[in-house]
Amino acid sequence: MTETKKVLVLFDIDGTLTPSRKTLTEDMDNFITELQTKVDVGVVGGSDLPKQKEQLGENATTRFKYSFSENGVIAFEEGKLISKSSITDKLGEEKLQKFLNFCLHYIADFELPVKRGTFIEFRNGMINISLIGRNCSYEERLQYVELEKEGQFRQKFVKILQEKFSEYGLVFSIGGQISIDVFPQGWSKEYCLQFVNNKGYDEIHFFGDKTYKGGNDYEIFIHEETIGHTVTYLKVDDEEEDEDDSDSDSDRENDNNDEEEDKFEKELYIFYDIKKILKKMINKEYNNNNKNKFIKSISKHIYLLIAKNEEKQKQFF
Ligand SMILES: [Mg+2]
Repeated sequence: MTETKKVLVLFDIDGTLTPSRKTLTEDMDNFITELQTKVDVGVVGGSDLPKQKEQLGENATTRFKYSFSENGVIAFEEGKLISKSSITDKLGEEKLQKFLNFCLHYIADFELPVKRGTFIEFRNGMINISLIGRNCSYEERLQYVELEKEGQFRQKFVKILQEKFSEYGLVFSIGGQISIDVFPQGWSKEYCLQFVNNKGYDEIHFFGDKTYKGGNDYEIFIHEETIGHTVTYLKVDDEEEDEDDSDSDSDRENDNNDEEEDKFEKELYIFYDIKKILKKMINKEYNNNNKNKFIKSISKHIYLLIAKNEEKQKQFF
């Protein structure tokens, strides 16, 4: 048996530890507690701290060794706030106002069948821009999605912003159904690594669901300091899903969408291989000798299974 490694396991939250926009299941909650007895565990999500607490519990900052909200722009270590950054400090007031004013003008001149409120949401580490306005209803949102398939509204807007503000060092990400996320380069999830990469870990494992290029886990997933694992899911559902409802970043947009919430209420989130594999870590099967084999098996087998009812789940176990 080789010496036990010092391992940190970092989890994305939405779509990885919890179902999209939902809370931690009791099953997963217990498992994390078990995992924490063997390795350090941290969470990194794109949402702000209040939303993170809704999903992980009021003790979200204390129950994990590390808790990063807004990708680490707000950083906690063992319950203590260790860093808080802001896009205001990064850009400076002058640039920020130029950018916001340009967006406000663009939005004001943009015509849609309906427009609602909250066109720009300002956060510590991110600006969220919506042409229709984040206060739109669920029906209005779907109508916008349909229109945008033709109109490519956000794609066009992003192109203009990229050209106009090319020297600002900003990233424009089309997330969710109705909005654009704007943040400084390097402020995606890999931002949080600066708080853990000097803590003497032999390995930092990251688990996320959007690890593909363009996904919000991509940068940390491919980062040289992490061993990245993709958590995917198999959805047992004959019904067609909304094509564009594929990005967990949209959680912020859906706070008031009861219908959408109900849809997720009906789904059960089952952790399967993720538990099996992490249990290998607990059982210390994980050592240098079988490292490559183990990593391969992680990449290959980890997935989450969402099933709507127990009968359908049984088909898969
Ligand atoms: Mg996710």
